[in-house]
Amino acid sequence: SRRKIIAGNWKMNKTPSETTALINELKPLVANNDVDVVFCVPAIDIIPAIEAAKGSNIEIGAENMYFEESGAYTGEIAPNMLTDVGVKYVIIGHSERREYFAETDETVNKKVLKAFEHGITPIICCGETLTQREQGIAIDFIRTQIKIAFQNVSAENAAKAVIAYEPIWAIGTGKTATTAQAEEVCKAIRECIKEVYGGDVAEKIRIQYGGSVNAGNAAELFAEADIDGGLVGGASLKPDFGKIVNYK
Ligand code: 13P
Repeated sequence: SRRKIIAGNWKMNKTPSETTALINELKPLVANNDVDVVFCVPAIDIIPAIEAAKGSNIEIGAENMYFEESGAYTGEIAPNMLTDVGVKYVIIGHSERREYFAETDETVNKKVLKAFEHGITPIICCGETLTQREQGIAIDFIRTQIKIAFQNVSAENAAKAVIAYEPIWAIGTGKTATTAQAEEVCKAIRECIKEVYGGDVAEKIRIQYGGSVNAGNAAELFAEADIDGGLVGGASLKPDFGKIVNYK
């Protein structure tokens, strides 16, 4: 059975000094060796986060990364800058990056390939808008996002990927998808991976739910057959994250 992975996405919150304080506060609360615990933090917070997390079960991830090795890309972060300081995960294609920073399925695919080239595990985000859900096209839309994100990704790498299903209407709204809605889509994503890569990869790949996950709904969501953990925004910045990590 798959190991759960529970990741925080800090988004654009916390200064470097606040990072040290928050990690020191949360470190004892998220001590659970039965799950993978990841804190994805703003680029400037990565180094203090790694320092503060030393000796704990917390792994540090980035929230974004560029798909080139180096060069004239003002403002971007290269993959070897992340690996050099010990980053193990990177969120790719979060809906906020797609909406405000013009990321597309194609740039997501380039970033996914580049992350694997550097041995960084991508947390690949997908998810529909409320309109798409109401039109009944959510699963079709997500299948397309997934198929493009995984173009030219080997089966060996695909098995190591993490997918985060985040319905856009549930992000930061306090409106969680029902457990049944979340499971339906996570199951469909696994089915899509099975069509592309076969059953072995589909059984190994980890699929998270994200969107208003909190201490009160985590246990029910994570008990579903195809939900292998969560990508947590707001609640990852509070002691509540400890309850989410220790959901059982
Ligand atoms: P919230 O948990 O704040 O709804 O954010 C979800 C999210 O976007 C995580 O990536």
